[in-house]
Parts: sequence; C-alpha cells; structure tokens
Amino acid sequence: MTADDLKRLVHLQEIMLGQDDLANKIAAVPAEVARFEKDLLAAQETMEKERAVLLELQKDRRKLEMMLQDVEAKIAKYQGQLSDVKTNKEYQAMLKEIDNFRAERAGLDERILVEMEEGDRRGGQIRALEEALARKRRLTDEGKSRLEADLSELRRKADSLETERREIAAGIPPVLLEPFLKIARQRKGLAFVAVRDELCGGCHVRVMPKLIQQVRRAEGLIACDSCKRFLYVPDDAGRAAPESEGSSAR
Ligand SMILES: [Zn+2]
Repeated sequence: MTADDLKRLVHLQEIMLGQDDLANKIAAVPAEVARFEKDLLAAQETMEKERAVLLELQKDRRKLEMMLQDVEAKIAKYQGQLSDVKTNKEYQAMLKEIDNFRAERAGLDERILVEMEEGDRRGGQIRALEEALARKRRLTDEGKSRLEADLSELRRKADSLETERREIAAGIPPVLLEPFLKIARQRKGLAFVAVRDELCGGCHVRVMPKLIQQVRRAEGLIACDSCKRFLYVPDDAGRAAPESEGSSAR
C-alpha cells in the first residue's frame, strides 16, 4: 500500500461520511415541511371553530329578534283590544297579560344586547385571528421555499460528492477498496482511524507497538485487534483527522 493509496482511502472515507451526513439532512426535510403545514392547519382550524361559534351566535340572535317582534305584535294587539273589553275584570286581566309580555320583551332586549356585545367581541377576535393566520401563511410559504432551496443545495452537494467519490474510488486498487468498504459498512462509515498516543482512534484501545510499526511502514491494511478498523498514523498528530464515533465498538 503506497502513501497515496492511504491518502485516497482516508479521503474516500471523508467523502462517504459527508454523503451519509447529506443523506440524513435530505431525509429530514419532508418532516420539516410537514411541521410547517401542521402549524398552519392548526391555526386554520382554530379560526374555523371561532367562525362557527360566531355564526351560531348570530343565528341565535336572529331567533331572539323574531321572538321580540312576536311579543311586540302581541302587545300592540292586546293594547288595541283594550277599548273593546266589556268588564273591568276582563280589562284587568288583559292589562296583566300586557305586563307579562312587556316583561318578556325586556328579557329579550337584555339577551339580544348581551349577544350583540358577545358578537362584537368575537368578531374582533376573529379579525385578529385572520391577521395572525395571514402572517402564518406567509411564514409557512417562506419556510417551505427556504427548505426547497436548502434541499436543492443539499442535492447539488450530494451529486458533486458522488462524482468525487467515484473518481477517488476508481484510483484505489480493489484489493484495498473492497476490505475498506466492508469495514465501513460495519462501522457506520468509519473504517480508517488514526492512531494517536498509541490508542486506536475508533475504540480507544491500546495498539501494540509492533502493530504501530507495521502501520508506519504502511504494510497493507493493518486492522486494530479490538475493533477491526484499519489504522493509520497521521503525518502530523495535531492535524485534523476523521472523527471517531467514540468507544461504541466491541
Ligand atoms: Zn480499535
């Protein structure tokens, strides 16, 4: 294995990890779009409910107004008949009846007034909800456009990484590429790890000095005894190397 082979393999791993990351981000987009739509739908439903309550209130008020007309007609009718009654007893009874209707009318007036005030209050609330809903609709559209733009950008990056991956993979001998891909599949994409301070960068188990010597001489693919990931010694220990997934290995 040449130094160039090693560089290509480590580079390939970086690209493939980048691809996994992009794939996760792309897969998360539909849920974000759905969240925007769900919020908007909830706001619309609240609005519809408020409108339905107001509609019921208005219906009820029209009913009360018809009852009021009825009562007023009766009062007028009885008052008109007052002059026709023959006895004082009948006259008193009719006055009593008229008083009852007047009390009924006062009650209806009061209920209509209360419902008008309630209707005004709810009408104001609905106007505020309409404004909030229009705002939410605008934010939803903006959010979805932004997500669509993000998605295009992510897909563009994914395409470009895929091109890069093919180019690099084509330059790696199959005898190195195949075992690398096998371990990468088993280890969440992390097949190559740096040895630092005599520790495996994947599982953090100590690597025997003899093994480190083999790694330094780049005698083919040298695997960590513990996690089976392939080891390399970075040129410069301070230089950034592929991140490990921690000590989750067996
Ligand atoms: Zn290891």
